[in-house]
Amino acid sequence: MKPNSVEPIAIPIPPPPPIADNAKCSVCGEPQAPNSGEGLCWVCRRLKISAWRDSDLQQPGQQE
Ligand SMILES: [Zn+2]
Repeated sequence: MKPNSVEPIAIPIPPPPPIADNAKCSVCGEPQAPNSGEGLCWVCRRLKISAWRDSDLQQPGQQE
């Protein structure tokens, strides 16, 4: 009889949830960034965030 040993069982690691192949940026058509949730690729998302930052910086009453 075999000893009552616990042998490591090779459990196949499930692949990460695939990103839909048709998930493309609504702006430029590049593949969407994972977890974007906005339908944007990482480039457009960065641009968008950058735009937000710019709009924050461009406050009224700005002296030239
Ligand atoms: Zn894009």
